[in-house]
Amino acid sequence: MNTLFMGPPGAGKGTQAERIVERFGIPHISTGDAFRLAMKENTPLGQKAKEYVDKGLLVPDEVTNGIVRDRLGLADCESGFLLDGFPRTLAQAEALDEMLADMGRKIDHVINLKVDRSLLLARLTGRRICKSCGATYHVLFNPPKQEAVCDKCGGELYQRSDDTEEKVGTRLDEYTSKTAPLLEYYGNKGLLREVDGEKDIDAVTAEIVSLLRG
Ligand SMILES: [Zn+2]
Repeated sequence: MNTLFMGPPGAGKGTQAERIVERFGIPHISTGDAFRLAMKENTPLGQKAKEYVDKGLLVPDEVTNGIVRDRLGLADCESGFLLDGFPRTLAQAEALDEMLADMGRKIDHVINLKVDRSLLLARLTGRRICKSCGATYHVLFNPPKQEAVCDKCGGELYQRSDDTEEKVGTRLDEYTSKTAPLLEYYGNKGLLREVDGEKDIDAVTAEIVSLLRG
């Protein structure tokens, strides 16, 4: 069961990915983890990647793709994997298809978690942090007893500048425009499975499980 996971920030992708890998006994592979592993094990591509990272440069596709290929070739991926955060571009998607074809494999499912923009904004802009003790709250999911006041120390709560509607909106727009071609690519191949990410967490998990088993 070779699966790709997609979804905007705030869609609950991380939580669902954790549950799915546990349910199916497959590894959760993010590009970040694959990079860290390659660097730690000092593989040839890990060394190359480190050179770019150390210089503060973007790691080129050929290195990134190679690191993903190495990772997918490890024994724990034999019965499947859940790939998260890769591919990010059409070129990477095509490279992924090629490397899997070389292994006699293919992508079976692309899960896309869909959540309405207004709900994503509400989820992502609701975080508040205490100026005095650093405790975190969420205006919807974990509100303080008194608005804008810390329950623990009475300190004032503030919103991080990254969490403002403007910043979050830009992040969501970037995500949408970047992933649109990928969704089209996998849609044309008949692999795209849209999942309503607005339902409660257990219902979303159940839907993904049934799609992956179907
Ligand atoms: Zn506090």
